[in-house]
Amino acid sequence: MDNERASTFPPHILIFPSPIQGPIKCMLKLAELFCLNGLKVTFLNSQHIQQCLLKCTDIESYFQCYPNFRFETVPDGLPEDNPRTGNEFFEMMDSIKAVGVPLFEEMVTSGPYGPNSENPITCIVADGIVTSAIDTVKQIGVPLLYFDTISPCGLWANCLCLPKLIEAGEFPFKGDDLDELVVNAPGMEGFLRRRDLPSFFRSKDLNDPHIQTILEKNKNLPLYQGLIFNTFEDLEAPILSEMSKICQKIYAIGPLHTHLKTRLATGTTSNSIWKEDRSCIPWLDMQPLKSVLFVSIGSLTVMTKDQLLEIWHGLVNSGTRFLWVRRPGSIVGLDEDFEIPMELSQATKERGYIVSWAPQEEVLAHPAIGGFLTHSGWNSTLESIVEGKPMICWPHYVDQQVNSRYVGEFWKLGLDMKDTCDRVIVEGMVKKLMELKKDEFLTRADHIANVAKTSVRKGGCSYKNLDRLIEDIKLLKC
Ligand code: UDP
Repeated sequence: MDNERASTFPPHILIFPSPIQGPIKCMLKLAELFCLNGLKVTFLNSQHIQQCLLKCTDIESYFQCYPNFRFETVPDGLPEDNPRTGNEFFEMMDSIKAVGVPLFEEMVTSGPYGPNSENPITCIVADGIVTSAIDTVKQIGVPLLYFDTISPCGLWANCLCLPKLIEAGEFPFKGDDLDELVVNAPGMEGFLRRRDLPSFFRSKDLNDPHIQTILEKNKNLPLYQGLIFNTFEDLEAPILSEMSKICQKIYAIGPLHTHLKTRLATGTTSNSIWKEDRSCIPWLDMQPLKSVLFVSIGSLTVMTKDQLLEIWHGLVNSGTRFLWVRRPGSIVGLDEDFEIPMELSQATKERGYIVSWAPQEEVLAHPAIGGFLTHSGWNSTLESIVEGKPMICWPHYVDQQVNSRYVGEFWKLGLDMKDTCDRVIVEGMVKKLMELKKDEFLTRADHIANVAKTSVRKGGCSYKNLDRLIEDIKLLKC
């Protein structure tokens, strides 16, 4: 862009998230924060996600509030009836990389946002979805900021430490003792066990495709001008400090949903891709203070029928009240003639409530919620931290195993159910969280919630880091 145009037009950011609930929600919040600060944003969604947002979210409000905001879409290459969750999630990611990412490349080179267009972009913010397009982005010279919406501790342990582990001869791990501590993960010494890493770390083969993908991702990181994280410095200081040795520009600006509420002084839309069932709020209103356990495994994870029954029996046997999100399609192997055992249906009627999708942020903020049984997705973890709700963690993949270790062992905000799904364990953990050690956990959770909220207030670390990010974006040169 020539200098005259650059000084007349606001910086134009193209934001491209992976088409998954977590990254979309996070990046939409960032987009709003950018718009509030005078930047222009084009938000690139898959067509499928855009349709979901249209059905479930007040999308019009973006255009009313932010004249500088627009959506753009690319196809993800899958038929509409593909569930795009569970095992199909990986198929969806491969498909959008093959079909949607080349269209993104066209858009930012010769297309409507290319350097010679009327509407050139001056910066791209994306997660790993653009990995295959990195050479193109480099060629056009548009600065690229990496916003991985998983936790920094997860990115550090699962991805950035891998070359160190290989170089030191620690990985592939020798023997099968999953409780052995990992040595070459700086900042996590003394508490990160092999079992706290995703399951592909259990492979003995360096050529495992997951391992190769991670090594490739590592190679690309120096090509990014900065790393943005949805976290706050007080939560992950040692890891952020390690990260700054790899990339000088690190922006810890979270928790983003709280950040946005603080700056707007009002709530915004839910950014949900499923219709929220709000009937759980009046139900919660009728429950005693901090008496209900919220149960949800996020937008992608699935459980088997056996796991469903173990968790259900555990919950019921614990005697606690519960609000449970059962996303359609999230239970696999459930036959049509499945009959709910009498003792479960009876107890659920008495002290439980089931919805297909909840207004999660609002639920976690509700005074009746006393704890959260979660799959430890990063958004869920942060949302729980901000509301001071202790957690029982049942992690599945990506950063979830590391997050649950941090919750249980490092932040002391709950219990880690790692690698188990047994009714007796569930019952015991629920009783511990909601009764036996309730006060201890709540006091700790309350303290960290206050630290989180302070970080996004004027003068707080995340507040200052967001201002720094926006100033740096304004100075970025194509
Ligand atoms: N979520 C929601 N309603 C639900 C369950 C989840 O709004 O009933 C939201 C939740 O608030 C969070 C996101 O979905 O922001 C899930 O993201 P997370 O990173 O926790 O897990 P993922 O779905 O990516 O595995």
